[in-house]
Amino acid sequence: MQTTLGPRVRTRFAPSPTGYLHVGGLRTALYNYLYAKKVGGDFIVRIEDTDQARKVEGADQSLLKTLEESGIVADESILHGGNFGPYMQSERLDTYAQYCRQLLDQNNAYYCFSTAEELDENRKLQMKQGIQPKYNRKWLPETMGGNMPQSEIQKKLDEGAPYVIRMKVPDYISIMFEDIVRGPVEFDSATVDDQVLMKSDGFPTYHFASVIDDHLMEITHIIRGEEWLSSMPKHLLLYEFFGWEAPRFAHLPLLLNPDRSKLSKRQGDVAVEDFIAKGYSPDAILNFVALLGWNEGEGSEQEIYSLEELVQKFSLERVGKAGAVFNIDKLDWIEKQYIKARPVDQIIQAIKPLLQKELAEKSTDMDVARISSDEYLTQVIDLMRERVNFENEFITFSNYFYFDPETYDEAAVAKRWQDDTNEVLAEFITELEASDDFSADNIETMLKAFVAPKGKKPAFLIHPLRILSSGVGFGPSLYHMLEVLGKQTVIRRLKKGIERVTV
Ligand code: GLU
Repeated sequence: MQTTLGPRVRTRFAPSPTGYLHVGGLRTALYNYLYAKKVGGDFIVRIEDTDQARKVEGADQSLLKTLEESGIVADESILHGGNFGPYMQSERLDTYAQYCRQLLDQNNAYYCFSTAEELDENRKLQMKQGIQPKYNRKWLPETMGGNMPQSEIQKKLDEGAPYVIRMKVPDYISIMFEDIVRGPVEFDSATVDDQVLMKSDGFPTYHFASVIDDHLMEITHIIRGEEWLSSMPKHLLLYEFFGWEAPRFAHLPLLLNPDRSKLSKRQGDVAVEDFIAKGYSPDAILNFVALLGWNEGEGSEQEIYSLEELVQKFSLERVGKAGAVFNIDKLDWIEKQYIKARPVDQIIQAIKPLLQKELAEKSTDMDVARISSDEYLTQVIDLMRERVNFENEFITFSNYFYFDPETYDEAAVAKRWQDDTNEVLAEFITELEASDDFSADNIETMLKAFVAPKGKKPAFLIHPLRILSSGVGFGPSLYHMLEVLGKQTVIRRLKKGIERVTV
């Protein structure tokens, strides 16, 4: 259902398949998705693979897969098809050639036979002269106000010399548009180069192909990173040459490192795939990127949003101009909130495969059926939920719930063992073994009653018990941990441990 009058809203995410999905790309995709869904429009993913040299095999599929894993499913794409395809630019070459022909015929574009060396020399010369490098229009035909006779151009064409096709940028005009995020923006055409539209390999450039496709795919709103703002005059001129109505534009603020430099791979991960591999969950990542440049408005303290909620609340008007700092601590915090709130059966679903993998790789002295059961995992999750940073840590960080310790934290042992520790421990193990009640409460009562007459504090045994039953010196409440591990496991570990740890 469309909630605004006028043409159906259609947005697009147009990644180049050069490798991974950048977090900035995920934000662009998300904002396009949110805007379209909010007004009942369509969200399209178009693969812009016109730079064949930078194209990475399989990157298009993996981009879409990562997007879908994050919950952003396109209405039209190479995966799902649609009425405006193909959605891969390399499959649309005939279309670009046809529109290029039109611009040549209209005298809006011209052949350029300048070689790479000539262009390079020209650039160096202009830089030396302190002027902004631009094509010197050597091949601009006489018929278009240049110096090159048509006969020379024809000669080159007949020779089959390699060429590119450039757009002719009108001299000294002002190019203006109203950006949804940035307001009115104006450019002087004198600063705009005669952009190459068609390359010598017959492929269009990004600028040319994307304008044509945005028009043919009936895109109504172009939402993309600020780095594309400077391309606006070229794009607007192309719309004008063709006599097409330009869509609306929203240029999103830059993503910055905490030191306010432009977000780059050098200062840490920027690939969504890497964050997922580290254990961040897609819904938390999406929540995090939603807040990179958008907020709900003054007075709202809310930071945790589901995708459905974002669809309801998102608006382009609330996207800021100022660069958005990519603060990994915030992502960590959001991730924790998601883990705290996630239903236990969902966590079990996610961690079971990890546990199965570990159990396939190493053997355990524990009862495999028991430790893989939903009941046992629920107990581990309840105990550890507040302590883990990532879902996979229910397995990795809490490995002692599934495997007996092989080693004991040496520093913790050195700190916690006294001359009589093993002796007192041995006596307590015998008492524990004789008890039928292995509940946390009862273990606590027993331990306190046991140490008091010896003139010891509970800590005298608490730490050694933890170290011998888990291998490490920190963790959840000891008594609850022992209850979850179960009597058989605990007694086995304590007996084995007491023999191994000597002072
Ligand atoms: N293919 C461009 C990119 O890789 C798309 C830019 C745009 O959205 O117009 O970012």
